[in-house]
Amino acid sequence: MSDAATATALADFVPWEDPQATPLIRFQNVTKRFGDFTAIDDLTIDIYEKEFFALLGPSGCGKTTMMRMLGGFETQTEGTILIDGQDVGPIPPNKRAVNMMFQSYALFPHLSVAENIAFGLKRDKLPKDQIAARVDEMLNLVQLDKFANRKPHQISGGQRQRVALARSLAKAPKLLLLDEPLGALDKKLRQDTQFELMDIQEQTGTTFVIVTHDQEEAMTVASRIAVMDHGKIIQVDTPAKIYEEPGSIYVADFIGDVNLIKGNVTKSGDDHASISWAEGQQDLVGIAHTEIPVGTSATLAVRPEKVAISVEKPEGVTNAIRGKVLDIAYLGNMSTYVIEIPTGEHIKAQAANTRRIRRRAITWEQEVWLSFTDTAGVVLTS
Ligand code: ATP
Repeated sequence: MSDAATATALADFVPWEDPQATPLIRFQNVTKRFGDFTAIDDLTIDIYEKEFFALLGPSGCGKTTMMRMLGGFETQTEGTILIDGQDVGPIPPNKRAVNMMFQSYALFPHLSVAENIAFGLKRDKLPKDQIAARVDEMLNLVQLDKFANRKPHQISGGQRQRVALARSLAKAPKLLLLDEPLGALDKKLRQDTQFELMDIQEQTGTTFVIVTHDQEEAMTVASRIAVMDHGKIIQVDTPAKIYEEPGSIYVADFIGDVNLIKGNVTKSGDDHASISWAEGQQDLVGIAHTEIPVGTSATLAVRPEKVAISVEKPEGVTNAIRGKVLDIAYLGNMSTYVIEIPTGEHIKAQAANTRRIRRRAITWEQEVWLSFTDTAGVVLTS
């Protein structure tokens, strides 16, 4: 498929918006306790076939526990887990159409790449020719045909990761669970491998549920992201929605860099809300899809790259704040400016460096204007 066709196909893939669509995975009021500690707290979520679903959240929030329950390695204390409409409670791990790929790939060191991939198929006593054909197919999928006879220590970390993936997919599971699958790879290889992973997921049509600490990774690969905290899902949305329209300060702050300006709501309606935030200053306006009562304390969250910086007061913009440059971080392709605003708070603005440094006008201690549109930020009450 061309890039444009892929983009269209992705844009059309929104089963979670279709009330007729039946989910592949359904967590219904699932709670998991370890002794008196609640690791998963009354969690309800639907995940659809062919999704690349990412679980994101701080250490200990319950991501691995959710995966382990899906895989059948852990049983919920309360609630129901359905896979393909079937209550999987009584079904042992090896009888589920689910496979799990762990961070430590656990390849068998004494077996070749091909034998590693064939392992599960042999255990299932499939006919030899079928095993050989499937192994070839898998080697081709992960582009390791030439390495079939090597041992794991004779290939690179990235290649080992691909062998592990091929082995996990050999039995054509409906669902593949990936726990920090790229954790062992360095940054550059990790980024390349993310794209390979997406290609393979698309080619096989397998549903992927991935656990990752890496926000950028989740943003890159996932159809939807669930942001978790303390055993609960705080928001489930597409990466774009999670980034552009976080539903809470927690999510805004968890993903990417964000400026948070506190105030009180003065006006609300038409998908927008205004807040007063400092005496003598013009109210700030951002997106608010639900009406917020006037007087409610609220926070405007706006990303640094949406805040423009200028020497002259900009004309015709909804939000403009005067401030003073405290710091400039030159990052090569862009610069981040830290500006002190009248409340004493610090706001970050980012600008692409399209001009050479010496021609750039803004410098330390300078009085500047920050501005952003009425859709650049969101007004949040929790
Ligand atoms: P990390 O990102 O660090 O892997 P996580 O989000 O995957 O974290 P889990 O491994 O799901 O977190 O653990 C959730 C909580 O449940 C943690 O506080 C953990 O200490 C607790 N927990 C997990 N397994 C057990 C267990 N077998 N017995 C007791 N507590 C457990």
